[in-house]
Amino acid sequence: MKKRHLLAPGPTPVLPDALLAMARPILYHRGPEYEALLASVREGLKFLFQTKNEVLLFTSSGTGGMEGTVVNTLSPGDHAVVIRSGKFGERWGEICEAYGLQPCYIDVEWGRAVEPDLVAEALAADPSIKAVFATHTESSTGVLHDIEAIARIVGRTRAILVVDAIMSLGVASLPMDAWGVDVVVGGSQKGLMIPPGLAFCAVSDKAWAMARQSRLPKFYFNFLAERKSLEKNQNTFTPAVSLVMALHESLAAIRAEGLTALFARHDRLARATRAGVRALGLELFADRPTPALTAVTAPSGIEAGAIVKRLRTAHGITISGGQAQLKGKIFRLAHLGYADESDVVICLAALERTLTDLGYPVKLGEGVRAVQEVLGQAG
Ligand SMILES: *Cc1c(COP(=O)(O)O)cnc(C)c1O
Repeated sequence: MKKRHLLAPGPTPVLPDALLAMARPILYHRGPEYEALLASVREGLKFLFQTKNEVLLFTSSGTGGMEGTVVNTLSPGDHAVVIRSGKFGERWGEICEAYGLQPCYIDVEWGRAVEPDLVAEALAADPSIKAVFATHTESSTGVLHDIEAIARIVGRTRAILVVDAIMSLGVASLPMDAWGVDVVVGGSQKGLMIPPGLAFCAVSDKAWAMARQSRLPKFYFNFLAERKSLEKNQNTFTPAVSLVMALHESLAAIRAEGLTALFARHDRLARATRAGVRALGLELFADRPTPALTAVTAPSGIEAGAIVKRLRTAHGITISGGQAQLKGKIFRLAHLGYADESDVVICLAALERTLTDLGYPVKLGEGVRAVQEVLGQAG
């Protein structure tokens, strides 16, 4: 018998109440019960996104929300800036290029957070820029970008700020209205503790004005049509009803915990993990680490993939390795969503054994001790 622990950066473990909700008989999506459910979900999403704006939901993976945002805000020939500091920043660029746009790139060394001044320079160099595409948590490197500072810069211009918050929604605070972010994209399978299959797009008035002008081709991801449906507590097309039922449960759990406690829990798990990793003599990869996951540089002489594999086969723990150019170089420990202190303790304990087995000498218990010390601190 092997007990499995899912500590990968998505999909994340599913909240038990959400699992049970999905086992219930499905609802007719044009009936009064579903409408009541959606009305409640709309309110819950506004609470989670810290906004008065409508939050659109689509049945797709998170990338669908990203693509939908590009095609609903821009028109052929529009100028845009893409901050590229990892796989997901690259994705914004790939979507833009797929629709014939030629964005201006701000390339940032992987593992580093973007210097907000670079965004100001790019906007000053080309006043016709319509949108800046950014990433809150760059999941491929474990970096949390300073969206608050970037929003202050973009907010002074005609451009909108679009943020991929798929990894950090419900993990790190991103107060959309207070910071002045124009589109926030989320997904279901990370901090929300439900399975993959839903994408969310919260849209500001400034972005809605662009949506009314936008001429890129679109059909399924039509923001204006979707908003009209939502105002009647409907979705334009058949939604993933069971996932919306699960979402209702996760939003209730998030509301019960409260946003302050929710963000504090993630911060604590992240600090504990970082302390544990450092105590083992390992280096963190991100210069501005996210509370969602910890990216760790593999010790020299050990391939990161070997650590990932041994954790899975010997300890039943699923983590992630590096993507693209980071393959073999880093491994990523997730601590978001339905995660608590015991997950972090188990993770570090198994990591110590794994490193020892692979010939990297660690003193068993040193990582766990550092974790415990952080978890034992008040607040
Ligand atoms: C998971 C993730 C996505 C979306 O990926 P999908 O596979 O389309 O759900 C996008 N951006 C970031 C930062 C992510 O972590």
